Amino acid sequence: MRPADLADEQFRASIRDWLARNLVGEFAGLRGAGGPGREHEAFERRLAWDRHLHAAGWTPLGWPREHGGLGATLGQQMIFHEEYARAGAPARVSHIGEQLLGPTLIAFGTARQQRRFLPAISSVSELWCQGFSEPGAGSDLASVATTGRLRDGHWEITGQKVWTSLAHVADWCFVLARTEPGSRRSAGLSMLLVPMRQRGVTVRPIRQLTGTSEFNEVFFDAARTDADLVLGAPGDGWRVARYLLGVERGVATFGQQIQFRAEFDALVAHARLTGAAADPVLRDRIARAWVGLEVLRAYALETIAGAEAAASSRPGTGGRAGTGAEASVMKLLWARWHKALGELAMDVEGARGLVATATPCELDPWQRLYLFSRTDTIYGGSDEIQLGIIASQALGLPREPAPGGSRP
Ligand SMILES: Cc1cc2nc3c(=O)[nH]c(=O)nc-3n(C[C@H](O)[C@H](O)[C@H](O)COP(=O)(O)OP(=O)(O)OC[C@H]3O[C@@H](n4cnc5c(N)ncnc54)[C@H](O)[C@@H]3O)c2cc1C
Repeated sequence: MRPADLADEQFRASIRDWLARNLVGEFAGLRGAGGPGREHEAFERRLAWDRHLHAAGWTPLGWPREHGGLGATLGQQMIFHEEYARAGAPARVSHIGEQLLGPTLIAFGTARQQRRFLPAISSVSELWCQGFSEPGAGSDLASVATTGRLRDGHWEITGQKVWTSLAHVADWCFVLARTEPGSRRSAGLSMLLVPMRQRGVTVRPIRQLTGTSEFNEVFFDAARTDADLVLGAPGDGWRVARYLLGVERGVATFGQQIQFRAEFDALVAHARLTGAAADPVLRDRIARAWVGLEVLRAYALETIAGAEAAASSRPGTGGRAGTGAEASVMKLLWARWHKALGELAMDVEGARGLVATATPCELDPWQRLYLFSRTDTIYGGSDEIQLGIIASQALGLPREPAPGGSRP
């Protein structure tokens, strides 16, 4: 019987047992590796771990079976992530392909594109990065200026992307590009699937507050990709990008939220150890953080229940959580909660938090958490952008005028 056919508690026992038996030997040292601000940690071994997970049949968890996934329900995905976090299993390296592009390829890709890319994503033989943001197009993504032009049977891509996570290890990039000359805003954009390892693509790391480089600048200088490697219809890239962003803000974050519980528990243990838990103000903030975590979990479970009810008429598809305002509420809740946890960690640390533990600048886990969590309310769409989506989509308030007076 496939794991996804098991009842929930058997499914839980099955993944818990598998993790206990497999986070040993060459993988034993990976417990807790690769978290925020530690992306470079044990990269090759984490890559091997991701492949091992797939070979054992655990990933891609939520993809439908006809596309090589486990077809796990959203409830089972939540259980998987809970057990994964409980075991201290390492941060995944293949999440952009598996959790963002995979579902989008399944929704918009041609049969040929799906055959070409889905197996390589699921087996972790090709890694992907996300080429959306540009120096002049972050929150205002409809201002994308990178161009794609069809020439002699291929797309030629020219322009600059920025903040591109994991571009330095990626084999492919999904690039939002302006393919219709003279088009404006969200019209005339296409989602191109572009190989990274070619002349015409330059990746330049950006050093972050944590001292590491999780993201990069990417320069396309007449880079090429095949004419049929456009995801969705040419000119319809905005719809494809919005779908992908909904996935990024919604279901793809469940696992991350569960990881937060482990961070919270570790912080509480640290506060007890250092005596900070006796400080009345810190006790109060720790209690508030716990309440916030319960709210996050309750919202995630409610969203899952709603999505599963909607998916029950389509058994075996794994279900899909909301990708509109619901996903924005989820993003807003977790990003604010996690950033506040970083601030709480520094206050629990007190004066110790101001000093690096080793030279030249070795950060401890709390300092890293504090510095990296500053990004949570920015990436995947900043808080202000999520509030705008909630205002218009959930409340029906008038949409904000786009720059220049037009609508995105
Ligand atoms: C760790 C990290 C990883 C990332 N990874 C990727 C990646 O892999 N691929 C990728 O394409 N991008 C990535 N990004 C980029 C991310 O999507 C952008 O940083 C984000 O969309 C914000 O864009 P910006 O940085 O240009 O800021 P801006 O858009 O310039 O925003 C600056 C400030 O102005 C506010 N603002 C902007 N517009 C409005 C408005 N209309 N109303 C109110 N306030 C507004 C914003 O909320 C923000 O506070 C990453 C970012 C981070 C931090």
